[in-house]
Amino acid sequence: MLSCKDIADRASALNDGELSGWDALQIRLHLAMCKGCSRFVAQMRATDQLAARASDPGEPLEHEADDRRLTEILSTLRKEQSRH
Ligand SMILES: [Zn+2]
Repeated sequence: MLSCKDIADRASALNDGELSGWDALQIRLHLAMCKGCSRFVAQMRATDQLAARASDPGEPLEHEADDRRLTEILSTLRKEQSRH
């Protein structure tokens, strides 16, 4: 049986998909029974995904795309106004 410390040590490897079937299965069993570790791994995964998206300009976060669209609309409106 894995301890909570084992889970913490392997959480990032699990999220990266680096663990083999048996290791991953043991960790998943522990996560199913241990709320603390399951929250820890979920949080780590969320942080990793945010970091991955932030370092990849090809995949902007949704709200950033919305911001850009809003800025375009605003500047178009301003140009329209200055023309009249
Ligand atoms: Zn645990």
